[in-house]
Amino acid sequence: MLSCVLLGWSAISSAQVPDWCRTLPRPAYKKLERVKTADPWFEVYRVRPGVFAIYEPHQSEEVISYLIVGSSKALLFDTGMGISDIKKLTSSLTQLPVSVVNSHTHNDHVGDNWQFADVYGMDTDFTRLSAKGSREDAQAEIVPGEICGDLPKNFNAALYATRPFHVTHWLHDGDMIDLGGRTIQIVATPGHTPDAISLLDEKNGLLFTGDTYYPGPIYLYRPETDLDAYESSLQKMIGLLSKDHAPKLKLLLPAHNVPVADPKDLRRVLAAFREVRAGKVKSSPRGEKKEYKFAGFSFLMK
Ligand SMILES: [Zn+2]
Repeated sequence: MLSCVLLGWSAISSAQVPDWCRTLPRPAYKKLERVKTADPWFEVYRVRPGVFAIYEPHQSEEVISYLIVGSSKALLFDTGMGISDIKKLTSSLTQLPVSVVNSHTHNDHVGDNWQFADVYGMDTDFTRLSAKGSREDAQAEIVPGEICGDLPKNFNAALYATRPFHVTHWLHDGDMIDLGGRTIQIVATPGHTPDAISLLDEKNGLLFTGDTYYPGPIYLYRPETDLDAYESSLQKMIGLLSKDHAPKLKLLLPAHNVPVADPKDLRRVLAAFREVRAGKVKSSPRGEKKEYKFAGFSFLMK
């Protein structure tokens, strides 16, 4: 009887640990400088001087937002899931005013936008629609299997939604944001969504790639995804790799899984994507989607 009870308990408890969560932490984090912060929902890493990666490892998206600090202001590239309080976290990392700019406006990147007074958005209809908020996408992020470990103590699952937010500055391709001693260029890289962007910090050789590239399954199946635009955007990013034959980009900083990637990956990703579109690659089923797998990344498509 007792053994039955014990068996039952251990079966339930191991079922509660999702597979993705068992493989954490990812090896890449061992080499990064961890910054101690008070909120256990987030892990913060100083990836480069003045660049903090804000990682949310307890939710399956493993989303990464970035705080980029200049001498007069800071830019928060995405506000994460909105499950814990990223505004409170950023104010523990910098005392400078913080403006928000989003890699794109899917729910897992705009969760805490509502908290900020200064929000830059791409001038697209998709952005305007996302800014109205939604409940459905947020709720899907907390169903069984999506959470690893504990949710924050004051988190209310029933009320969890992407709250509406207000865009205070409309952005266009090529716009520059001066942070004082650091200039960030907006590089429109539509495809994953119509409002997908990358941020270029040319002086420091950094490209923040959002969801256009990260090491993992890249989502290219939603109705707002445009595959032609995605291919062109990869090509555009490759154009940033070098200038006058001198290496220009030193590091990619993606929005999921790990905050550091090799700029040379972009050439492999474009070549792989072209092979997929030419029908040369076999897919494996993943739910109702097709996954095209390559070393270090894959494409998840309809
Ligand atoms: Zn996305």
